[in-house]
Amino acid sequence: MLAPDPHTSILLALNRRATAPPKRAWGRVWLIGAGPGDPDLITVAGLKLVRAADVVVHDRLGAPALLAECRDDAVKIDVGKRAGKHALPQPEINALLAQHAMAGRTVVRLKGGDPFIFGRGGEEMLVLRQLGIQVDVVPGVTAASACAAATGIPLTHRGLASEVSLVTAHHRDGAPGCDWAQLASGRDRTLVFYMGLSQAQAISEGLLGHGLPANTPVALISNGATAEQEALRCTLDTLPQAASSKKLASPCLIVVGAVVNLAHPRRVARHEPTEEAALWAA
Ligand code: SAH
Repeated sequence: MLAPDPHTSILLALNRRATAPPKRAWGRVWLIGAGPGDPDLITVAGLKLVRAADVVVHDRLGAPALLAECRDDAVKIDVGKRAGKHALPQPEINALLAQHAMAGRTVVRLKGGDPFIFGRGGEEMLVLRQLGIQVDVVPGVTAASACAAATGIPLTHRGLASEVSLVTAHHRDGAPGCDWAQLASGRDRTLVFYMGLSQAQAISEGLLGHGLPANTPVALISNGATAEQEALRCTLDTLPQAASSKKLASPCLIVVGAVVNLAHPRRVARHEPTEEAALWAA
């Protein structure tokens, strides 16, 4: 069991029977994946819950249109990074979720992509569980799936990739970084780096240094699956220069592997049948 942070400790003290089953009067929390930024890419289950929630706690969402789906009287709380303001620290987000649930409300915690993929959804779930609050998860379309679909890159393709690794390029202070030898060792593996734009140099050097060929295909996809999508193709040795392109903004995903060669040069990123969106840059 993780040691409770100070906010959780206070909540635990308030609720001495925290390990007892949830009280009837308590509300519950839904951790919901909002998808990559296109409001059409939330699940039907997720949308139903967003429409029903008393309280919606959300990050700086790629899909503000989803908030328009909330009930008029729903409380909407932005805990993400906003211009000039920092994101609310994680322990305070945990406490906020718990307080609203303990007050009997139906709480939706709306998170970008999938809540369990680099989204800290696990931490929120564990704290709520520890407090005896019912918490359920609705999966979301993670950036890897969305960006791959929007650019026509089949992450696993028979004969080219039998494995796909979702890797964070960003590590907590003091935590060991990527195991480059292990990442470069797969013979037919696709690597997908989240939070990698500022780490492009390290990714390129780490993989080249452990034997991946310089001409390994790479795609950088910024704001994937949204109207602002920008995508660039390069190779492992030219990745650092490509990543410095002014076209690319955060959030950006980096895909490494032979499957990038299958990308469609004029891929439609939106779902409306007639609408054409972002194109591949050269
Ligand atoms: N839980 C999220 C990931 C959160 S980490 C998910 O499942 O997708 C944040 C990182 O996700 C960003 O730095 C970026 O690498 C990636 N990301 C999220 N949305 C993206 C998008 N629309 N296009 C490209 N990358 C995206």
